[in-house]
Amino acid sequence: MSPLLNRLVPQKKRMPADDLRDAWERAERLLQYAEHHEARWFWETDAKGRLTYLTPSVQETLESFGISTIGSLLSDVFVFDQSDIERARSLTFHLVSRTPFSGYAVRGRKGLSECSWSISGQPWIESDGGFRGFVGSGEDLTQLRTHEDEIKRMALADSLTGLANRQRMEHAIAQLLHSPSGECRPIALLLLDLDRFKAVNDTLGHPTGDILLKQVSQRIVNVVGDAGIVGRLGGDEFEIVLPSETDRRRIDYLAAAIISSISEAYSINGHTITIGCSIGITLAPEDGVDSETLVRNADLALYSAKANGRAAFHYFEQEMLETAKRRKQLEDDLRSAMTNGQLCLAYQPVVSTKSEQCVGFEALLRWEHPLKGTIGPAEFIPVAEEAGLIEALGDWVLRTAARDLSEMPAPVRVAVNVSPIQFANPSFPAKVMNVIAEAQVVPSRLELELTESVFLSDEETSEQMFNALKNIGVRLALDDFGTGYSSLAYLKNAPFDKIKIDQTFVRGAIDSANRNAAIIKAIVTLADTLDMETTAEGVEHQDELPLIRDLGCSHIQGFVYGKAMKKEEASVFLSQHRDRVPAIGYKVSRSDRAAVLQSAKIRIDKRLFDVVIRDLSASGLMLEFDQEFYVEGNEDVTVSMLEDQWIPGKICWRAGSKIGVNLDQALEPQEIGRLSS
Ligand code: C2E
Ligand code: MG
Ligand code: MG
Repeated sequence: MSPLLNRLVPQKKRMPADDLRDAWERAERLLQYAEHHEARWFWETDAKGRLTYLTPSVQETLESFGISTIGSLLSDVFVFDQSDIERARSLTFHLVSRTPFSGYAVRGRKGLSECSWSISGQPWIESDGGFRGFVGSGEDLTQLRTHEDEIKRMALADSLTGLANRQRMEHAIAQLLHSPSGECRPIALLLLDLDRFKAVNDTLGHPTGDILLKQVSQRIVNVVGDAGIVGRLGGDEFEIVLPSETDRRRIDYLAAAIISSISEAYSINGHTITIGCSIGITLAPEDGVDSETLVRNADLALYSAKANGRAAFHYFEQEMLETAKRRKQLEDDLRSAMTNGQLCLAYQPVVSTKSEQCVGFEALLRWEHPLKGTIGPAEFIPVAEEAGLIEALGDWVLRTAARDLSEMPAPVRVAVNVSPIQFANPSFPAKVMNVIAEAQVVPSRLELELTESVFLSDEETSEQMFNALKNIGVRLALDDFGTGYSSLAYLKNAPFDKIKIDQTFVRGAIDSANRNAAIIKAIVTLADTLDMETTAEGVEHQDELPLIRDLGCSHIQGFVYGKAMKKEEASVFLSQHRDRVPAIGYKVSRSDRAAVLQSAKIRIDKRLFDVVIRDLSASGLMLEFDQEFYVEGNEDVTVSMLEDQWIPGKICWRAGSKIGVNLDQALEPQEIGRLSS
């Protein structure tokens, strides 16, 4: 019988023999149960610390590694586990001092490192006070340890790519930065963000996006090699740390190599995918001496790389931090502006080219900043979009514009600019509907201006959005046409009522030396075919009006008829110019352009025509035929303007009976003088 059982059996002096036997048997049953069914095992030593009992399974394990158990000193069988170094006192200490201990992590001697246990024990003191040894139990930690190790590994690695995760990178940066002497060691930190990854995820689905991320991380690892540590911070953001790197040329080279490797095409599930990436770089110690500052600064450099056309790497510069601070200030100010009534809407007239009447207004946001004066929307709308304020701002604009519209006489319309972020929100149509119902206006009097970026979102979702808005009955206008993606294929299916031709085309259209008029003409032709109206934006000068009219634009919006004005001024404007809006802009758009009315001849493909020169500059002419005239454009021509002198040139645009001609050789000032006198 094991001496341990002596401990387990009640030590009653005068116990009847049967009771005593029952007690022994019960104790043995319980011990067997505990040893077989629980991870727990038992041990016992004599007064000298030699093992007198050890659960057989543990005995077997240890002996299979050549460790003798029964009869050996407990402290020779088990060694203290180094990973439990917080424990101040050794096992031997307790054994010698005869004090109890619990939860000691131990391993078997002789390199039995794959097994680890936790043991507890207490001295076995007889009723007479004599010390007989130690009794105790043990528990298997091996499984628990493996599990813990796995959890630790998972907590430090990114589960998708297996790269280091954010915490591990932070830890690595902190370790690399700090030398034992306390001074900051140099490192280079590269923050990398994929361009167009969201589009891949949205169009081809997340599983494809995941495969792409894995391939991207592999490519980065291949380029970086053992020059640094690569981690994924989440989403499509990666981080690379180059220890002790100070050579900018080497960093430039690496960054460029990463960009070029990532930009090569991927083939995933039968799709060929191309993406790009931008990189922001910070250097320690000059840009920061802790992980947080370095990552923030790399982020600012990354932002700048993205803003400057992407597929580039930028180093952090102090100026970026200043800009970010100003932006943050603007963001804070904007938040309070929204609640303090510093925002208002101004209304710019839109005039029909045919009737010259004001058919409506575009609502433009204005911010009266208490210190900085008026701030234009081009400055603060992007801030609102980035700070997540645009929805609230957009809701306010929509509600205010609809309310103001309800006070304007029908059929005058109001157009409201809608940010792509608003357009992407599925609840946007419901908001529009509420606003219209609240203001009690006819839906077709409200026009929503969208930019071409709305086509970038998922095709199906944007189609649903278009349909929902069309069902409400509001009008849709495509704003700033020509500045974005200008994909004509999209236009075919989108239910726009109007295309607004961007000012950049209108400006200078009158100059026959550029192709703007030809572009406007092309847009108008397209819009006519699709049964859409056209507004020429940003018409400033009176002499541009005939051209815009001739090019066929149905509406004009610009300083030539008026700048954006307060709601009250807009209603005065309407009542004052009920029949016709007078052009108030400057008369001519360019001082070096002369308006002339001089007859001339033009030879096109051996045919000779009489024309009138309407205006001219040194490099070009606008000529008018006596009737609508058709040419392809781009034809070589010769023009006779002075006596019998024929000047060669090329047709660059055509609109109705007018054409623009670029002259091969610039006219001399005195020739211009003679022609325009
Ligand atoms: P946009 O929608 O293209 O508005 C036309 C802009 O051109 C306005 O600038 C207007 O003042 C200006 N403009 C009109 N005629 C002329 C002209 O003859 N010459 C010149 N030089 N400029 C002219 P603004 O008000 O500064 O607005 C800039 C942009 O800000 C708008 O461009 C629009 O995209 C955005 N925006 C304005 N209000 C809102 C709004 O409530 N919500 C959103 N999301 N964006 C808005
Ligand atoms: Mg607009
Ligand atoms: Mg516009």
